[in-house]
Amino acid sequence: MNIILFGPPGAGKGTQSQQLKEKYGLTYLSTGDILREEMAAETEIGKKVKDIISKGGLVSDEIVVSIIKGRVGANLKSAGFLFDGFPRTVKQAEMLDEIMKGFSLKINAVLSLEVPEDILIARMLERGKTSGRADDNIDSIRHRFVEYKEKTAPVLDYYKKQGNLIGINGVGEISEIFNNLCKEIDNIR
Ligand code: AMP
Repeated sequence: MNIILFGPPGAGKGTQSQQLKEKYGLTYLSTGDILREEMAAETEIGKKVKDIISKGGLVSDEIVVSIIKGRVGANLKSAGFLFDGFPRTVKQAEMLDEIMKGFSLKINAVLSLEVPEDILIARMLERGKTSGRADDNIDSIRHRFVEYKEKTAPVLDYYKKQGNLIGINGVGEISEIFNNLCKEIDNIR
C-alpha cells in the first residue's frame, strides 16, 4: 500500500505521517526531512539547496526525484511507502509513476489535507518559534504559498484524473484528523 499525504505548507502532513507510518508499518519518505538532513550534514546536495529552501522556493525536480528513486529502490521489502511533501510538481508526479512502475508498484491513494490559508500561516508562524526552520518566517512562508499555488496545486488535478484523490478536512483535533485519514486508508486496503 503506497500513499501520498498531500497538502499545502503547514497542513499537518509531518504530524499525521508520524502516526500513520507507525500504525501501518510504512516506509516514510519526506523530501523536506531528507533535504534538511542533507543541509545539516553539509553534503553537496545540502549546499546546493540551502538558499532555495530558506527562501521558500522549490528544489529542482531532478534532485528530489533522484532522492526518491534511491530510497524506494533501497526499501523494496517494505510493506509500503508514505510520501510526504512529494510530489510537488506535475513533473515529479509523472516521474514518480514511472519510478513506481519500474519496481512493479503503484500509488494507491492520495490523501489531501484541506486547510484555509489564514490558518496555515498562523500555524507556521507558531511553529517557527520552536522549529528552528529557516523557512518558517513570514517572507519565506509567503513565497512557499506562491510556489504551492503555481506549481504544486496542479498536482491535485493530476491525481483527480487518475481517480486517486481523497480530500480530508485538515482543521480540527490532531486525533480526529488522524481517525479520518485511517478510515480512508482502511477503505482502500
Ligand atoms: P517541507 O518540509 O515538505 O515543508 O519542505 C521544506 C522545503 O524543502 C520546501 O519548501 C522546498 O524548498 C523543499 N522541498 C521539499 N520537498 C520538495 C519537493 N518535492 N520538490 C521541491 N522542493 C522540495
